[in-house]
Amino acid sequence: MAQGHTIPLLYLARLLWQRNVPVTLFTTPANSPSVRATLRDTTISIVELPFPANIHGIPPGVENTDKLPYMLSFPDFANATKLMQPQFEKALEDLNPVVGCIISDAFLGWTQESAAKLGIPRIGFYGMSSFATTMYVILGQERPHALTTSLDEPFSIPNFPKLSLTRNDFDPPFNDLEPKGPWVEFMIEQNIAMAKSYGMIVNNFYELEPAYTDFWNRGIGPKAWCIGPLCAAKQRVLLAEEFEKPQWRLWLDEKLEKGEQVLYVAFGTQAEVSDEQLLEVAKGLEQSKANFLWVTKSSKGVEILEGFEDRVKNRGIIVREWVDQMEILRHKSIKGFLSHCGWNSVTESICAGVPILAMPFMAEQHLNARLVVEELGIGLRIMPINGSMRGFVKSDEVEKRVRELMEGNKGDEIRKKIKKVAEAACGAIRQGGSSWKSIDLLIHDVSNYQV
Ligand code: UDP
Repeated sequence: MAQGHTIPLLYLARLLWQRNVPVTLFTTPANSPSVRATLRDTTISIVELPFPANIHGIPPGVENTDKLPYMLSFPDFANATKLMQPQFEKALEDLNPVVGCIISDAFLGWTQESAAKLGIPRIGFYGMSSFATTMYVILGQERPHALTTSLDEPFSIPNFPKLSLTRNDFDPPFNDLEPKGPWVEFMIEQNIAMAKSYGMIVNNFYELEPAYTDFWNRGIGPKAWCIGPLCAAKQRVLLAEEFEKPQWRLWLDEKLEKGEQVLYVAFGTQAEVSDEQLLEVAKGLEQSKANFLWVTKSSKGVEILEGFEDRVKNRGIIVREWVDQMEILRHKSIKGFLSHCGWNSVTESICAGVPILAMPFMAEQHLNARLVVEELGIGLRIMPINGSMRGFVKSDEVEKRVRELMEGNKGDEIRKKIKKVAEAACGAIRQGGSSWKSIDLLIHDVSNYQV
């Protein structure tokens, strides 16, 4: 799957292993090297299953979603994973000790069928907040938006804790009144599999979104265990050749020594940002006069931003390689995160106590942005030019919000707020905390599972 799905699942594997649960991890040859490297200090066993070749709708050579030319081909990719089912089941049967539970990505709904054949529980993992998971399920099941006449018309959800939403908070085609197409069919299939599953693991902690977690637990879907933030399980295992600090780290250290503050900018691994939008963000950063470290790997982005670094001199750097995002966020010079609001980035920012400047693009990022800004008060929103929740963002807006976050009283206020949320996150994962207890419960429930 995408990095945003794989990374938290690796944290989860590590977390369970740390709690003395024997874990075997299934992956594919293309993903295996990074999986092995991440888990090299554990005794987690790793099984490789070949990924099917020559699949309809997928260009040759695509072995994981990072290589997909565009996200529209994702359902074909995910459906192709079904071809792995016989080998998966054979490998499961061969496992010693006998497998007691399958935890799988929510987009691998077919693993529910494998679990049922073996008479063991399957637990799904969406990697989203309770809020976003609940909202997407309710949108499909209850259609609270059915009477809206425009994408920006607010609608509320009966008995729902607080926020009113708009169709623009949801990604197309799900924001259509009659959504259709491969994505919709794919999601229906995954939701059916999830409903049959024994439960769901959520990468949050109860205190973060109690109202939405309680709302879910009233029976919207299967049982949920909130056991995060999973990034807390992260371990940095350095290889000898990694002891040298990367360039960006030296740059951040230099800024810290001079007592300067830095804005971290990253839009995740999947968002397709247009050339015009990238340029506008760059212009806004330039106008804001803030220091920034911008991680962008898309080759398109790199071309477009050619010459930009020279213009901003030593005030900003663009990093074009894979970085340790948690390490950046935890660096003492970082005072804000201009983020697309992927859920991993949000939880990582929370753990590091860094306030968020929310600029969502796709998937459930718009919902996360609303949660971050309106509900949790740990971020500011960059608003599109058209006054709608979705659309093109101008450089002046970027500049204004960057200044507000980095220089203004509002920024200080939300910085204080997120420090408190970070403390709550630490409390949740500590022995006796809510997520710690939730893992105890999960282990207990699975151990006592009866078909
Ligand atoms: N990430 C990273 N280094 C990079 C780019 C991304 O460690 O250079 C990680 C980031 O820390 C996060 C994940 O990739 O854990 C991205 O997930 P997220 O949910 O934030 O966004 P997505 O990529 O799924 O849109």
